[in-house]
Amino acid sequence: MEGTPKRPSNQELLLQEILQEALELPLSGEVANYIPALASVNPNQCGIAVANLDGEVHMAGDANVPFSIQSVSKVYGLTMAMLRMGDDLWRRVHMEPSGQAFNSIVQLEWEHGIPRNPFINAGAIVVADTLVSHYSSSKSAFTSFVRNLADNQDIYVNQGIFQSEKSHGNRNAALAYLMKSFGNIEAEVEDTLDHYFFQCSIDMSCADVARSLSFLANRGVQPHSGEQIVTRRDAHRINAILQTSGMYDQSGEFAFEVGLPAKSGVGGGIVAIVPNYGVICAWSPRLNQYGNSCLGMYMITRLAEKLGLSVY
Ligand code: GLN
Repeated sequence: MEGTPKRPSNQELLLQEILQEALELPLSGEVANYIPALASVNPNQCGIAVANLDGEVHMAGDANVPFSIQSVSKVYGLTMAMLRMGDDLWRRVHMEPSGQAFNSIVQLEWEHGIPRNPFINAGAIVVADTLVSHYSSSKSAFTSFVRNLADNQDIYVNQGIFQSEKSHGNRNAALAYLMKSFGNIEAEVEDTLDHYFFQCSIDMSCADVARSLSFLANRGVQPHSGEQIVTRRDAHRINAILQTSGMYDQSGEFAFEVGLPAKSGVGGGIVAIVPNYGVICAWSPRLNQYGNSCLGMYMITRLAEKLGLSVY
């Protein structure tokens, strides 16, 4: 009946229950502060969204509030690079877990400037480099790609965070110059870093992120548009690397406890793919020692347990 408030679905009630549990936990973790503009975010925000394959998105808490996607952007970048480069991409970046922090530099010297995987910073910088070389305007191509996937034209870069990342990006610059010295960066380092910082600085909500990556839970086909975004083989490959490397040096523990391919970002977002079911995105800015959201981990773990979502 018109005017009658919509009753929350069972899934929404479950999300609300899990959100409430999370909010009652003792506070732990710290907001990322190595990018100054990220440190000014309200740390108490918390939201969760689930995009199901029927196109419905269920939400609780701050699931519609845009946040800095940070390394969650590495999933979109990788998808674009796989589409453009095909198997040549895997000559420039590998698919092994690193066992190191996300911004570590030590392995790169031993391994001749070839990053372990596309989800550590070095790997995402190589991916950004391929986008800069293959698109006349890689930043607008990136924004359009994400907007189309999310079916939301209101997705923008956060200029404050973008400038802050650029002026505090010495470690990422070190990674890029080291790789350039090995011949694994083709464009000018400044242009590659500009793209990398830009994609990290995009703001999206949990609902946007969950909806945009639904194709990964559906063998490459975007459920709400029916469009084949990537081949079934590439959807499989992206999920495999998410599972082994998406949560940085906590990927093993996340597989052990939760059993889902996932990607985190230092903005506090975590996205987890549930093949043949949908995509979960949880967000809360306080991070643990690995750079993963404390409450985001908690909420996804609880939801996966309660619904038996593990792929194993
Ligand atoms: N922009 C961040 C950086 O480059 C992304 C890192 C992250 O989210 N883990 O350090």
